[in-house]
Amino acid sequence: MPSSDLPRFDTATLRAQDAAHHLHPFTDTQSLNASGTRIIVRGEGVRIWDSDGNEIIDGMSGLWCVNLGYGRQDLVDAATRQMQTLPFYNAFFKTATVPAIELAALLSEIAPPGFQHVFFTNSGSEGNDTIIRLVRRYWDLLGQPQRKTIISRHNAYHGSTLGGASLGGMSGMHAQGDLPIPGIVHIDQPYQLQHGHAGESAEHFGLRAASWLEAKIRELGPENVAAFIGEPVQGAGGVIIPPASYWPEVQRICDHYGILLVSDEVICGFGRLGHWFGCQHPHIGTRPDLITFAKGVTSGYLPLGGVLVGERIAKVLIERGGEFQHGFTYSGHPTCCAVAVANVQAMRAEGVVERVAQDLAPYLERAFGTLADHALVGDVQSLGMVAGLVLYEDKASRTLFDAELGVGYRCRDHCFRNGVVMRAVEERMIIAPPLVMTHEDIDEMVRRIRRSLDDTWAGLRADGLI
Ligand code: PMP
Repeated sequence: MPSSDLPRFDTATLRAQDAAHHLHPFTDTQSLNASGTRIIVRGEGVRIWDSDGNEIIDGMSGLWCVNLGYGRQDLVDAATRQMQTLPFYNAFFKTATVPAIELAALLSEIAPPGFQHVFFTNSGSEGNDTIIRLVRRYWDLLGQPQRKTIISRHNAYHGSTLGGASLGGMSGMHAQGDLPIPGIVHIDQPYQLQHGHAGESAEHFGLRAASWLEAKIRELGPENVAAFIGEPVQGAGGVIIPPASYWPEVQRICDHYGILLVSDEVICGFGRLGHWFGCQHPHIGTRPDLITFAKGVTSGYLPLGGVLVGERIAKVLIERGGEFQHGFTYSGHPTCCAVAVANVQAMRAEGVVERVAQDLAPYLERAFGTLADHALVGDVQSLGMVAGLVLYEDKASRTLFDAELGVGYRCRDHCFRNGVVMRAVEERMIIAPPLVMTHEDIDEMVRRIRRSLDDTWAGLRADGLI
């Protein structure tokens, strides 16, 4: 639909109502209200439109979730059919619905070997809260109730509930509301720009970053450590891609001390890295005991998340556990599950995961990699369909801008103006485009990003900041 055919929206009135009544997530309301909300009214393929008719390439797949793009009639039809038949029923009292059963079976087909069970939630945060309860229950049932502590990483993102935010390592979140909750500790992230030594190889850094896990386990006493949790690639933290040496060493350490390994695949799952799950990418190569998922399971069309439970845990829980006192009204919501089934079936039928691995990810790597010649840009990296770059004040000496200048936010605003969604995380600019982009979409996205980098440079120059 050309933008001239869009229904007309009264942007000013909508903005005023939004400012008057709507508290946005992760938002400084006062400053948002001063600038005004951007109101998104339509999506088609890999593009969205705002209420003023501007067309924007969605370089972030919504919020890392609209993997199959917007406007998929098959997903709409799946939801409609299920809503007409049975919009809701629960899975509590010896009941189940057809879509929840079908999805559980389908997930066990696409999951890595050893995963035959799933626990459904509404979101990634609830998935990770479920992880905390499952992990502690598992060790209780094995007669080791003191094994409670879960080790995570600074700058990890695992959600916004009390449990999810505690597992996460976002200092800003911890500062609000007395987090983390007891029994969760953090080690440093495998981010070489922050923690690398001068002249250190990536391989050496990866091993050194993994050794922080071993040091923490020894400090706490292995008999007190329940699990280690990590995103294969940290997403919200800024697309931090660890060196290839990192995860195999983490796996070795977890195996050595008998500690559960949890892979938070809320972003990396469902094809984002060119495999059904991120842990299957050779760069990651872990054998987790538990996998958190959400987002891409429905391509974001409806909220759904969950935990894939490996057999080591499922067996103990089922054979010795009795009632697991945990669950949500909408665990296995039939309409959300019906959309997820249609989404996974479409991904299979269209070979989406294979295409990402064989064609799209290498194409993105090359196209995004061309930005490395820009005066502001260094450390361009991608894995599968996530990518990031660093904005440098002086790239020769690797000098970063003063964080107070908010250069990333300036760049993000230019991106929006130039018709592309890119996210700013401190010194990093990141993307996670839909898995259904064409080569032309990627080329156009990269052209718009380059234009935005040029505008950022020109603005900094005009303000005397470079
Ligand atoms: N884990 C990871 C890795 C995530 O990226 C997110 C969300 N960005 C979450 C958990 C939380 O998911 P939700 O917002 O659905 O609660």
